[in-house]
Order: sequence, then C-alpha cells, then structure tokens
Amino acid sequence: MTTLFISDLHLDPQRPHIVDLYTELLAGEARRANALYILGDLFESWIGDDDDAALAARVAEATRALRDSGVPVWFMHGNRDFLLGADYAARAGMTVLADPSVIELGGERVLLMHGDTLCTDDVEYLKFRALVRDPRWQAQFLAKPLAERRAFAAQARGESRKHTSAAKPEIMDVNQEAVAAAMRAHGVHKLIHGHTHRPATHHFDLDGRLAERVVLGDWYEQDSVVRIDQAPPR
Ligand code: MN
Repeated sequence: MTTLFISDLHLDPQRPHIVDLYTELLAGEARRANALYILGDLFESWIGDDDDAALAARVAEATRALRDSGVPVWFMHGNRDFLLGADYAARAGMTVLADPSVIELGGERVLLMHGDTLCTDDVEYLKFRALVRDPRWQAQFLAKPLAERRAFAAQARGESRKHTSAAKPEIMDVNQEAVAAAMRAHGVHKLIHGHTHRPATHHFDLDGRLAERVVLGDWYEQDSVVRIDQAPPR
C-alpha cells in the first residue's frame, strides 16, 4: 500500500488549473492509497471557516469524497492556512494533525512537520509566527468582518512576497541544527516536511546513524506528490 504526502498546494482562485490537479489526485490515485497526508499550506490563505468563497466549498467537497471512499485524510496547518478550524476540517473530512507529529510507516517512526519552525535563521518570520499563533490574536482576528480579514490577508501575502525576495536564500531554508534537534527530540531518523519549496531527499549522519529528510514540493506550476510504499503484512 502507498501513503501519499503533499504540501504547499497554495490553492487559490487565481490558479484554477492547480485546483483541478488536486481534485484529480483526490478522485484518482488517492482512492487506492493507504492515507493522504497534507502537510500544510493547502490554501494560499485562510481567513476563517466562515469564508463563503467558492474555492473552500469545492475543496471541502472533493476532499470529503476521498474520506467517504474510505481513505483517511490528515491535515497539518501551514503558515498560510493556520486559521483553518475544526468546522472546516470536519466539512472536508480531514483529521487535524498537530505540528509536529510522529506516525508509524512500515514499522518506522516518521516525524511530520510543516517545516516553517525549522527555518530558525529567519528571525523576522518567527516573530510574526509567534504573534499570529497566539490564541488571543486569532480570536480578535476571527471576530473582524470578512472584508477586513480579506484585506489583511492580501496585505500579509504582499509582505511575505517582499520578505521572501529580500531575504538571503539560505535564511529561507531549514537550519540543520534545528532539523537534528527536532529529530533527536522525537527519536526518529526520518523526517518529512514541506514549506521551503525545495523538493529533495537529504541523507546525513544523525548521532552515528543514517538519517533522511524528505522535502515536499510546491504546486505553484505543477503537482508534486511523495509516495511511500509499504510492503503488505505477511
Ligand atoms: Mn509554508
């Protein structure tokens, strides 16, 4: 059986082709999978579960159909859709997974993260993250009218683009010490994450044992799926 991992789809009404690729995955290959893991940034932005945009409804319906066909769908928040709540997750048939989480895959413990917390060199971003992950900030934000929240999200996206193009490329990648610390803390030698949009499989030594870090790719121009096969139990 195959377990599928995706992240950083950044679904947005501006890129309808990418939404089609996602619904094709859900209706096709994912139906034969063991489970689907969405490791954050499914949406380009999320302003609250009460958003009446057509995209949210379409994605919920298509994702729900996969769950209803018997395939578990796990969702971890990213830095764009961290406000996605229990209501929407239920509508979409997704079970919310904490960041970080450890799962067992083919007898091996695997650490799953979105990946933004591994980018410890990006001090400015981590300050912003601490603010918007504060439950009081979130409650205040969600109490604002939809139009005001939409304007804030558009502004935050602009700021994020400016920051991404101005910051040194190495600052926007994971910090290897942070990777090692997270893996050590969870007693794993395999990590899967997204966020950096630098798809690759990295091998390195972790305390005398070979460790692996799998980075998922973004969906800005094409789809990107990591498939992990497990032998059926004998
Ligand atoms: Mn991200």
